[in-house]
Amino acid sequence: MKPRVIAVDGPAGAGKSTVSRRLARALGWSYVDTGAMYRVVGLIAHEQGADFADADALVAICDALELVFEDDGEGVRTIANGRDVSRDIRSAEAGQHASKVSVVAELRQRLVALQRRMGEAGPTVMEGRDIGTVVFPDAPLKVFLRASVEERARRRCADLEARGDSVDRQRIEREIAERDQRDSTRATSPLRPADDALIVDTTDEGIDQVVARILALADERQVP
Ligand code: C5P
Repeated sequence: MKPRVIAVDGPAGAGKSTVSRRLARALGWSYVDTGAMYRVVGLIAHEQGADFADADALVAICDALELVFEDDGEGVRTIANGRDVSRDIRSAEAGQHASKVSVVAELRQRLVALQRRMGEAGPTVMEGRDIGTVVFPDAPLKVFLRASVEERARRRCADLEARGDSVDRQRIEREIAERDQRDSTRATSPLRPADDALIVDTTDEGIDQVVARILALADERQVP
């Protein structure tokens, strides 16, 4: 039987989180943010002073990790080993750390197994980089979002400003380009659209329109 999963993949700032949350809410499905998992491991590795390429250290962090996503009505809070890390994992630095640890194949295996268990527990909208290609290659609906680097940097800066962080626009653009390069050239599960993914460019298309288009396709394919 096909998993009841809608896979939403794409690079940083393409609109995955907003679109995925909206889809999950419209369908009454669970929402899983797999990027948050890599961010949590990156954060703990950084705090422990571990080498981001040290597979044993990253697997140990992962095996000891108690991870809970809690919906408090306003948003999903990420609780790692009893501590609310929702804010800490969203900094620009945490994004870089996540991208570095995500290259390690042993860590990916662990997190992919966890993501499959989450998706199999009930109907789920799951966002990430490899959901349609690796985690749920037989998902009945796969979406790959893209947007220009300039637009993605603009969105990321707005997010960081909303948190009260100071923002260097050019640096963010450079970091996004670096992260794209690392994510798409890594040996294990590089970022690429699945062959059967619906590719949507969100540079100019509004979120409402994108969500409506995906819901119409889900309906057409009798996914929900
Ligand atoms: O989506 P988000 O920006 O939170 O992801 C942070 C980083 O985690 C990405 O740059 C990517 O390197 C990694 N990631 C991944 N596979 C996923 C989700 C995220 O490699 N499924």
